[in-house]
Amino acid sequence: MKQISLLGSTGSIGTQTLDVIRDYPDQFTLSALACGTNLELCRNQIKEFQPKLVSVQRPEDAQTLAGEFGDSIEFLYGEEGLNEVARYSESDIVVTAITGSIGLLPTLSAIKAKKAVAIANKETLVSAGHLVVSAAKENDVPLIPVDSEHSAIFQALNGEPKKAVDRLILTASGGSFRDKSRAELDGVTVEQALAHPNWSMGAKVTIDSATMMNKGLEVIEAKWLFGLDYDQIDVLIHKESIIHSMVEYVDRSVIAQLGTPDMRVPIQYALTYPERFARPKHERLDLAELGKLHFEKMDMERFRCMKLAYEAGRAGGTMTTVLNAANEVAVCRFLQGEITFLEIERIIEEALSAHSPIAHPSLEEIQAVDASIRKQLQA
Ligand code: MG
Repeated sequence: MKQISLLGSTGSIGTQTLDVIRDYPDQFTLSALACGTNLELCRNQIKEFQPKLVSVQRPEDAQTLAGEFGDSIEFLYGEEGLNEVARYSESDIVVTAITGSIGLLPTLSAIKAKKAVAIANKETLVSAGHLVVSAAKENDVPLIPVDSEHSAIFQALNGEPKKAVDRLILTASGGSFRDKSRAELDGVTVEQALAHPNWSMGAKVTIDSATMMNKGLEVIEAKWLFGLDYDQIDVLIHKESIIHSMVEYVDRSVIAQLGTPDMRVPIQYALTYPERFARPKHERLDLAELGKLHFEKMDMERFRCMKLAYEAGRAGGTMTTVLNAANEVAVCRFLQGEITFLEIERIIEEALSAHSPIAHPSLEEIQAVDASIRKQLQA
């Protein structure tokens, strides 16, 4: 029986992780969860999964829940609560399903407590990838990708030596605006941006998909997870989201992982790795019915966020911390109707060009840069 700590239980990846846990009651137990302010869903999750430790964002919510559930469950709140869920003594594996670089400290806590980490929180790797990867190495802790592209690469790399890898090919659906020209992006609404053609996801990642920043963040995530150079990571537009990513080997053999677009598959693989459990109710991939798959070259001018991500990644140091923090603030402001869609990339570009990066930053330096960008860019 694997005991799981889940950070971000009420979000899109969080609820789909609970779907997987629900499917295999003899294999998985939810021992601890952390969520934000969605008290109603949190309450239902506590009733169904009976975790021993729960953390919420606000102290008053922790108090309310403690009053309802009594002493059999421990209730905590805030950043410290998040860290406690991440390092909970009974857990074997931590699923980091929260959004944003707020996931950094709990991810490091989980690693220091020697928990395996199923990593769904890409912003943490973008903001401070070198710290997370070196802590994982030091503590001999596996980082298992949950992001569908990285799970695909992880599977396609299985058992192969790194020196045999020529490049990774990350596929990108193109998001909700893939068929629009740059001129047509002027004046698009939040509602239009939130309508993703293939995947059902949280608001932040759906907007990131529309700007293509999601793929940019994923290139940086791949760099850290698989230890390759940016020159070895390419992006290919593939609108059906059936091929989740590929690895090209030095002998020109290309290994791809395919499947219907359903996040529960990579989530489950992260939880069962190196085993595979049958998903009997799951729809099969029917290639004959699909008939065709399409591919297109990535256009770095059309999708300027993609270019910014590569540039920030290559510059290194705190440059990707800035990329991530500026993007988080800009997306939040777009969702609140304060800025236009195209202003997202303009804000990020300006923040990057104003920043002098610190090479090999410490945790304190990362946190200081992250906080100062957020403060600067908040309206
Ligand atoms: Mg992805």
